[in-house]
Amino acid sequence: MSEIRRSVHLKQRPDGAPGRDDFEIREDAIPQPQPGEVVTRTIWLSIDPYMRGRLREQQTYAQPINPGDVMTGETVGEVIASAHPDFAAGDVAVGARGWQSHCVTPAERLVKLPRHAAPLSAYLGVLGMPGATAYRGVTEICRPEKGETVVVSAASGAVGSVAGQLAKRAGARVIGVAGGAEKCLWVQDSLGFDDCVDHRSLDLHRELAAACPHGIDAYFENVGGAVQAAVFDLLNPFARVAMCGMVSQYNEAEFPPGPNLGFVVGKRVTIQGFIVSDKPERLAEWRALAAPWVAEGQLTYREDVVNGLDNAPDALAGILGGRNFGKLLVRVGGDP
Ligand code: NDP
Repeated sequence: MSEIRRSVHLKQRPDGAPGRDDFEIREDAIPQPQPGEVVTRTIWLSIDPYMRGRLREQQTYAQPINPGDVMTGETVGEVIASAHPDFAAGDVAVGARGWQSHCVTPAERLVKLPRHAAPLSAYLGVLGMPGATAYRGVTEICRPEKGETVVVSAASGAVGSVAGQLAKRAGARVIGVAGGAEKCLWVQDSLGFDDCVDHRSLDLHRELAAACPHGIDAYFENVGGAVQAAVFDLLNPFARVAMCGMVSQYNEAEFPPGPNLGFVVGKRVTIQGFIVSDKPERLAEWRALAAPWVAEGQLTYREDVVNGLDNAPDALAGILGGRNFGKLLVRVGGDP
């Protein structure tokens, strides 16, 4: 077994899209756990759009990452050393954070995983934070009812794919928005959405209106920008908008000016932002609910795997530009 730990550190704050040169790999010895800590060997690293926000100087709902810091990111790993009674070598756990081959983590931040209930990677996607995000946004804010029209942007992605399937389960007519014909086809054929509009279309407004002849009752917002403008024009009275993210602007130094929100009053629209980690208990609830659906093939998901920790920076650039097709993961180490 290698005694060396490899870590990806932020070298400089990116200007626009992040690139390989904004990061550097450092090596040191794999540390020993202090009392209460666990050392894991990383198997899977999750790449998520929120990571771009951490690279900004300004603090948002979370602390920024500063030049020199190890990049943050959730991992699934195998325990190789433990100084906590709840974990032993050979256990597999989710929750260690870091773009690292080996992570040292306080035991209370880790959740031990069953070995054969689902593929381990699923605990970073459909059964993990993105799945729980979809669950919260749909059940707490969009609250779709039978026959209503729900639009989901970034529909082929980790969050959007689950959000749309949940809205379908509630009996809604679900329209996805995704980039390109291949993604749109998958959203309809494999996820079972009723329609999917390509946001790269030159006639996005008209195509979305054609797909939503009775207007839009709920919108699960993942991207912002032109998609948001097209959706807002079609919102029905009493529509609900779950503001999950606006990935189209994450690389911008200055966020563009917003829309005029006068329509929100007349149409009595509810627009609510949320952060999944505000209610950590709902992640466990989601895992328990969705694990049987995944096992029985009732919840479809897709993963996009990049091999090797060194390629994590390119993967981050890719997710912000729509190069991923499904939940984006880095394969860092082999399965136990
Ligand atoms: P995805 O797997 O959906 O990947 C991001 C996708 O965004 C890309 O594949 C691309 O899809 C789309 N995209 C990128 N740029 C644009 C653009 N300019 N216009 C339209 N679409 C674009 O990522 P996630 O599912 O992990 O995340 C989706 C959203 O959810 C993000 O905004 C993220 O920040 C947010 N989020 C929020 C959380 C919360 O707690 N509020 C928690 C987790 C995620 P395409 O090719 O189809 O355009």
